[in-house]
Amino acid sequence: MTCYRGALEPLLPPTFALMKTPKIKPIIHFFCSFKNSMYKLNSSINSMIAVTLLCTLLSADDSPKLANQSRLLRPPEKLVVLTFDDSVVNHATIVAPLLKKFGFSATFFITEGFEFLTNKTNYMTWDQIKGLHAAGFEIGNHTRYHQGVNGQTTEQIEAGIIYIEEQCAKHQIPRPTSFCYPGYATSPLAVEVLRNRGYKFARAGGSTAFDPVKDDPLRMPQVFDSKPGVTFEQFTSAVAEAKDGKIAVLTFHGVPDRQHPWVNTEPAQFEKYLTYLKEQDCTVIAARDIAKYLPKSK
Ligand SMILES: [Zn+2]
Repeated sequence: MTCYRGALEPLLPPTFALMKTPKIKPIIHFFCSFKNSMYKLNSSINSMIAVTLLCTLLSADDSPKLANQSRLLRPPEKLVVLTFDDSVVNHATIVAPLLKKFGFSATFFITEGFEFLTNKTNYMTWDQIKGLHAAGFEIGNHTRYHQGVNGQTTEQIEAGIIYIEEQCAKHQIPRPTSFCYPGYATSPLAVEVLRNRGYKFARAGGSTAFDPVKDDPLRMPQVFDSKPGVTFEQFTSAVAEAKDGKIAVLTFHGVPDRQHPWVNTEPAQFEKYLTYLKEQDCTVIAARDIAKYLPKSK
């Protein structure tokens, strides 16, 4: 019997297919010869030992290369991230219960801007925010005053971020690792501050799907921004972008949002969106859950 690499492959682990470096060819030939002699002895046990030795040697030969490749999990098709901005009260009273009903996760980006401190009819209490965390949702940082970071100094950016981190600590909520830029504007200084403080994701604006290979996760684009004017077809087109390794990050504000009607989503429309995601068998996660799909360098 003649030994060929192709004849050996069914006996080897799946990782063998990744080992294409020229330096392993002499090793293969040596063990093929060895394996041929084993076949001549007509001993299946010895043959298995030879194959095992070959596998061990090949694995050791290419292990650094394989380790690097294994760091990047390719996102599955129809991977969707739901994000909710501005601490609106119905995130706790309407959105979270609906998400639970559908079995979806999400990130809630918390700010004390607008009338958060005085209008508790429209904005969540910290107890409600703590309840979202307790229910398994991610709490993200949307800064203290909801002011755009572009034009702010490093110290101002840090102050706005640290305040929300301290509020989270005070309410037994883990320190956020996801951030949302108020007004969507980014800045190099803000990216530096976020990176230094251990943030993994920062959602900006835009209308493109997030590509973990090409895009900076600290300038993560949204593919959909729910507003009164958008059509259901625009929503389904945005979700359809979640393919070929890209992730659809969707933005919502209040459901409904009476204080900021230009970013309003009616509850009936929101439920229609969730129903579609369910029908399409989408995987719906929080921003923090993207971590396993990032290349090692990010
Ligand atoms: Zn906002």
